Amino acid sequence: MYELHHLKGNTYYIDGTTNVGLYKLNDTDCVLIDCGHSEEGPVLESLLRRYKLKLKYIVNTHSHADHSGANLYLMKQTGCRIVTSRIERAFLRDSKLDIGFLYGGYPLDEYDSRLMHIDDQKEIYSLNELPRDLHSFKLPGHHYGMIGIRTPDGVHFVADSIVSKTLLDTQHVVLIYDVKGYLETLNFLKTLDGNIIVPSHAPVTTEISDLVEYNKKQIYTLMDLIVDYLDKERTVEDVTAYIFNYYDLKISYNKYMIITSTIKSYLSYLSNERRIKNYFKNNKLVFISIEAFDDKF
Ligand SMILES: [Zn+2]
Repeated sequence: MYELHHLKGNTYYIDGTTNVGLYKLNDTDCVLIDCGHSEEGPVLESLLRRYKLKLKYIVNTHSHADHSGANLYLMKQTGCRIVTSRIERAFLRDSKLDIGFLYGGYPLDEYDSRLMHIDDQKEIYSLNELPRDLHSFKLPGHHYGMIGIRTPDGVHFVADSIVSKTLLDTQHVVLIYDVKGYLETLNFLKTLDGNIIVPSHAPVTTEISDLVEYNKKQIYTLMDLIVDYLDKERTVEDVTAYIFNYYDLKISYNKYMIITSTIKSYLSYLSNERRIKNYFKNNKLVFISIEAFDDKF
């Protein structure tokens, strides 16, 4: 772990808790694509020193703590610039925004906002400042304004657009903001086969189609579970509790928040796709499958 692995040309990656990209701008200067958790900052700094590399930029694919946690430390140590998309800049600039966004209101003290990111980071630059060699592309689905990065060596860093089989088999429900966007992004990933693809939470590969199908299968299984459970009117809370029970997931404030937010996204997708109905009953928003609705009315 924490080794610099050469991929192609000037493109490398570091196997931290997430895969961190590294692109050499020249013999001495480099860019990191994401930077891991806050505690990984000193590790990355010493690795860069070992290879006599100066950090000029960090490009954050999105604002989650496992991608941007070491921003401040590395910025203070190296004077590097931090670059990300317009919306992710807003999330990085205000640490309350992400937890408010997931929770849908002002969070209880029990929610640990450090799981998102720790400090407000004011000096965040837009994609206009992205080094000329690098190309950014949108990856809708996982988070509001997540981007991927392509280097001139044809290496694609695809962030949290896909996760490993191990992660899916243990976590079952991964955080998704926009299910339709997530599925479209997964299909897009298949078009990258033949290139070197670096997901943040899955092994580096040149053939991602099988993993794409595995991720899609998990999403469609979750959808079917939800639709089957909606054999009568249920609330978001009902569906969330059902999913926790079904997969025997350990509940905590943050896990509850992340899964509730994801379940809401699934319910929106299924409603928009006309697989389920939603309406108010006794001042509660309820959801029911189309089949059960037709039988009922
Ligand atoms: Zn993420």
